[in-house]
Amino acid sequence: MKRVIVLLVIVICLLSCSPSGSLQEDLERVKNIDQTISGGSPDSSSFPSQKNVDQKEEKKCNIPKTTRFFSSEPYYHGPLIDTHVHMPVASRIVSTVAKQAGFADAPYKGDLPIEKIVCLLEAEGITKIFGFFMAPNLAVGESVGMVKDIKQNYPNQVVAFYMPTPIGQLNPDSESVQNILEENPGLYQGYGEVKFDFHEVANDKPEDQQYLEAYQLADDHHLIVMMHPAFEHRQEVERILTAHPDTIFLLHGFPNAERWIGEVMDKHDNLYFSLDADLVSLYWFKPSHDYQQPTKEEWLAYSSNEETVQQNIKAFLRRWEATMKRHPDKFTWGTDRWYTWHFDPEASSRIEEIGRMFIAQLDPSLQEKFAYQNAEKMLEK
Ligand SMILES: [Zn+2]
Repeated sequence: MKRVIVLLVIVICLLSCSPSGSLQEDLERVKNIDQTISGGSPDSSSFPSQKNVDQKEEKKCNIPKTTRFFSSEPYYHGPLIDTHVHMPVASRIVSTVAKQAGFADAPYKGDLPIEKIVCLLEAEGITKIFGFFMAPNLAVGESVGMVKDIKQNYPNQVVAFYMPTPIGQLNPDSESVQNILEENPGLYQGYGEVKFDFHEVANDKPEDQQYLEAYQLADDHHLIVMMHPAFEHRQEVERILTAHPDTIFLLHGFPNAERWIGEVMDKHDNLYFSLDADLVSLYWFKPSHDYQQPTKEEWLAYSSNEETVQQNIKAFLRRWEATMKRHPDKFTWGTDRWYTWHFDPEASSRIEEIGRMFIAQLDPSLQEKFAYQNAEKMLEK
């Protein structure tokens, strides 16, 4: 923990404590260090040259279309939209600091390139993702530049969300975020994930000033807010939903959510919910994962047992299907992929397959809505 604090202090100091030079100079210094470490070019945050675009077109996906691991029926074969994907970070320093701060992984874009992610989506029949791009102060230019590159190359596959870091001091202030949104109209369609239920770091609260300002920015710029509250935040969430009735709030996570989510949906038309990581037990399937999350090998071993997978699907149906029937237009499918191994083709295709097995067991009237149509409608609003 000491090491984490020292690192964070170094980063914050590089940004704000330097006795000589302006903040801009400090940022440039951090950027240069980061580019040296990351091996990126100084202009990597600008739009790609025509040459780069041509090179991309020549590249072929070499990830074969996924084949099933299980053979059970029924199975959903239609399109999917993944409404919960953590994108690689734009800077190697951010990746390193995040891991030092206690996160199990935070892939850097140089190690997990967007081309690979897009190939995976193609192989898995996923037409679109809601991608969360973390934009900490020390690399906000790189993060915005990365989103611009991706939107230019893959305008239809990636819906970009501007994601704050979980550490308040590392986030650009609201005015800076507003400037980014105004200078790049249409680049972002969402704000988040903003999470108030971390185990790894101390949590902010949903009604802290910086988030109240963020919801207003989202309201002003027509962004979907993706929020991960804790179980005890029901009243805060209801106040926020009431304050921004025209803004869509997409929530997920937290144990025992089904009852209060259903009751709040009964009252608020702007609340949506995604079923994602828990569907496939991506981060947790035994108590020791409170401290150490599963590796790829552990997760694959666990999710190779068809009986366990089917039991989990049935439990999910029992927990959620009645609320989904009551609010058929408000639930979306997602994966919550984040770590490097979540994008490994073997693990990734298993996540997709279990999702399709779940969808196929939903009431037929819900299947396509949950799989992709509700997500499409959210983007039209
Ligand atoms: Zn979350």
